[in-house]
Amino acid sequence: MEEYKKKKILCVGLVCLDIINVVEKYPEEDTDSRCLSQRWQRGGNASNSCTVLSLLGAPCAFMGSLSSGYVADNINTGSRTILHMNRNLPDVTAEDFSKVDLHQFKWIHWEGRNAEQQVQMIQQVEVFNRPLPPQERITLSVEIEKTREPLYQLFPHGDLVFVSKDVARHFGFQSAGAALKGLYSRVKQGAVLVCAWAEEGADALGPDGVVLHSDAFPPETLVDTLGAGDTFNSAVIYTLSNGGSLQDALTFGCTVAGRKCGFHGYDGIAEMSAL
Ligand code: ADP
Repeated sequence: MEEYKKKKILCVGLVCLDIINVVEKYPEEDTDSRCLSQRWQRGGNASNSCTVLSLLGAPCAFMGSLSSGYVADNINTGSRTILHMNRNLPDVTAEDFSKVDLHQFKWIHWEGRNAEQQVQMIQQVEVFNRPLPPQERITLSVEIEKTREPLYQLFPHGDLVFVSKDVARHFGFQSAGAALKGLYSRVKQGAVLVCAWAEEGADALGPDGVVLHSDAFPPETLVDTLGAGDTFNSAVIYTLSNGGSLQDALTFGCTVAGRKCGFHGYDGIAEMSAL
């Protein structure tokens, strides 16, 4: 059991360079304005999740491709606009993944991207898990964040599935609770579905059919919401991988993500591992 605890959480997905331009207000087309500040920061969902997991004190690892991107933030409203570039970078394939020694991991999280390949990776882990007693199996989680049809094939493949507000709205749901009830039939038996809803907090639904909720914990001043979702996911995974309850995981997820919104980047998360 001690051995199992020391195992790592692997995040599969993207690392990129975020160039964050903080501006007074959203620039109008064809105008010339000055940034209040600019910073370059490592980003990408899986990379951000690893940053947060390691700040919380969880042993973790990253597997993914490299790219670069831009991010623009707006200081008046805390709103943000994200521009991506470099669309042709290779994602991790099932063949790459087959070279990974799975014994090192207790949890693997996939940021939904090249879903067909990711389903094959998950199947490799299922084959690895099959002969093991339940407490030694690798837990599988997936994040379905973007409204892209191929990603929806990931729903039935996670023990834990994160579905975003964007995707929930795309399916016509106006709240996290409604989304969970409406989408739960897509997940596999026994799985947990989680939906975060920015300043409204987050909800979760497991096999007992009870929708759990945590309010958000807004910081005194909203500074930077970039990566709030990744922070939330990591704090949920962190809690569950340490044996915490689903309600504890939701509350801790919202606490850490809310705290993160009060800082640029991920400063300020490290001291939260003791909570
Ligand atoms: P993202 O904006 O990165 O997509 P989400 O909407 O998925 O993030 O939110 C993830 C979690 O982050 C929420 O459940 C909430 O706890 C926290 N959060 C996000 N935005 C805010 C905010 N404006 N105020 C307080 N908490 C927030």
